[in-house]
Amino acid sequence: MMKRNIKDCTLGELESFVLELGEKKFRAKQIFSWLSKGIYDFEEMRNIPKKFRDQLKDSAYIENIVCEKILFSKEDATRKYLFKLKDDHLIESVYMNYRYGNSICISSQVGCKMGCSFCASTIGGVKRNLSPSEMLEQVLKIQEDVKERISHVVVMGSGEPFENYDALLKFLEIIHSQEGLYLSYRNITVSTCGIIPKIIDFARKMPQVTLAISLHAPNNPIRNSIMAVNKKYPLDQLLQACNQYIELTNKRITFEYALIQGVNDCEEHAEELGKILKDMLCHVNLIPLNKVQENTFIGSERKKAERFQEILEKYRVNATIRRELGSDIEAACGQLRRTQIANEE
Ligand code: SF4
Repeated sequence: MMKRNIKDCTLGELESFVLELGEKKFRAKQIFSWLSKGIYDFEEMRNIPKKFRDQLKDSAYIENIVCEKILFSKEDATRKYLFKLKDDHLIESVYMNYRYGNSICISSQVGCKMGCSFCASTIGGVKRNLSPSEMLEQVLKIQEDVKERISHVVVMGSGEPFENYDALLKFLEIIHSQEGLYLSYRNITVSTCGIIPKIIDFARKMPQVTLAISLHAPNNPIRNSIMAVNKKYPLDQLLQACNQYIELTNKRITFEYALIQGVNDCEEHAEELGKILKDMLCHVNLIPLNKVQENTFIGSERKKAERFQEILEKYRVNATIRRELGSDIEAACGQLRRTQIANEE
């Protein structure tokens, strides 16, 4: 019999598994709670009878990922983690400390196939999807390292989460479970580059989770030139889907806009963006682009970002310039993994 990775299970799935093994359903809650505490050895599950622990060892295993490297920012509390998966693939996650709590940004795939031209994660394409437990492990390992509760999770690292949709939904259910990390859906953000059919489905299935859209352009020509996804799901259709999302969830949508010098950061771009977003329940995060070694894009200067923000506000579009955290530690999404791969080659 193939052993099952029980860390991939929602509580409901674990209950069925426990019943299949001939045990009482309540054992599932006990096991689930141990798994969420970062226990990897069945022997340490002290409230599980020895006989059942042995049975579990024969029929199940617990996924583990290994921390390969941690980079500590000298400027703030940000830490960047490089993890090795059991098939030796590498992924990265970032820990950030905000006034409102501890937030981490996790990866959902090894690499990414979406081909955004400013992003390091997509160089080399996608290798594979992450399992729910590999997403959960990033949270648990970082929580163990910083010795504090992680209060916010952002699925915005390497990968397009909506390309790994079923695993994403399971992961969200697992971290939200009362018997597990009990993280409020409101404290979770999922970011997509704009896979329209999934935006609508996500509104129906996870209406409390915050949705962020990587927008990065105010019109189709610019978006086409930097985000391949726009050719399949153009801007006007994307904005329509966003409006539908707002109608279904009654929630504000977040737009991520990385300011790239000479590409999307002029005053006329801000005017255009203001016009298309002016009546929408939304918030724009202006992000100073982090340098990626492999491409020539340069982030805009602070002054330009401030002017951009001013223009958006003229249209009553709420916008903030995101604080640059950990910019000294290869903070561009996917850069640490790329550097490590290059060193190994
Ligand atoms: S920005 Fe996101 S969707 Fe685009 S290539 Fe990078 S990881 Fe993929």
